[in-house]
Amino acid sequence: MAQIITIGEILVEVMTKKVGQKFDQAGEFVGPFPSGAPAIFIDQAAQCGSSAMIISAVGKDDFGKLNLTRLEQNGVDISRIKVLDDETTGVAFVTYYENGDRDFIFHIAKAACGAVDENDITEELFLECNYFHIMGSAIFNEPIYKAIIKGMELAAHNGSLITFDPNVRKEVIKDEEKRRKLVHILNESQIILAGEDELYYLTGEAEEEKSVKELLAQKAEIVIIKRGRLGASMYTKEGVTHVEAYPVKEVDPTGAGDCFAGTFVSAINQDIVPIKALRLATIAGAKAVTQKGPMEGNSTLTELSEIYKALYK
Ligand code: ATP
Repeated sequence: MAQIITIGEILVEVMTKKVGQKFDQAGEFVGPFPSGAPAIFIDQAAQCGSSAMIISAVGKDDFGKLNLTRLEQNGVDISRIKVLDDETTGVAFVTYYENGDRDFIFHIAKAACGAVDENDITEELFLECNYFHIMGSAIFNEPIYKAIIKGMELAAHNGSLITFDPNVRKEVIKDEEKRRKLVHILNESQIILAGEDELYYLTGEAEEEKSVKELLAQKAEIVIIKRGRLGASMYTKEGVTHVEAYPVKEVDPTGAGDCFAGTFVSAINQDIVPIKALRLATIAGAKAVTQKGPMEGNSTLTELSEIYKALYK
């Protein structure tokens, strides 16, 4: 079994060819690209050299095959991805606007990946697990939420750490039930990797330092705030460290946060100290945005280490 385990959606992403292209009229698209936030995370964790597994499901179709082939090639344990005869693989359509905003149409909850439940979570999965990584995007139906909670209980029982990327957009705060579930996971996590406004969306506390302090006073040991082209900050009980972004030309921002998290968790799993793991993750996040397609800019630890050596002698 694996040292890093995640759970959640596997899908293909299809993107509009033009910036500003709308979904309510005909247009050209590019893709399919392998995708799904947990899939991007686990692909990167494996590429960085950790044993890594995803619990998910795809349909018995070419979109499923595209993902399975990519993940397996990059070293992910795909033995817990169900291939379902009667379901189709999830799909996300994405369009970008001049101001950097994105719109998505997701086909997830009623696709194959929506068929994951508590029965897919078994005790032996966690015997070698060091990190159980949860993404907020994976909580798209009740059965998968229950599966995540069962996984968290088994992980905690086994001494694995919970790592959490809330991956939440402001729309979610209108869904009180979902917000409550995400806050529960947040409070149980030892390592939190959040976007700039996500703690505010979840806790209602506008002051970043205050909400981070409250988390560090509970179960959290590390809280990282991802700031896009402004880099990232890491809070621990000892204080805060900021790392500037590695400068690149941004082509496609989707997946940067998942790639960042996959790098960080994979690095600390290999006993790389947190500050170096943070710097490597920042380089990985930057590399991720230079390629079209959410998983296309993922990197190996060797590639990241070369840039690291040039930056931090
Ligand atoms: P997503 O939800 O799209 O996966 P996110 O909001 O979770 O992304 P970001 O903050 O966008 O996460 O990106 C993660 C990290 O990647 C940042 O903290 C930064 O280090 C790096 N990064 C992202 N965008 C850029 C960029 N344009 N230039 C350089 N580095 C970037």
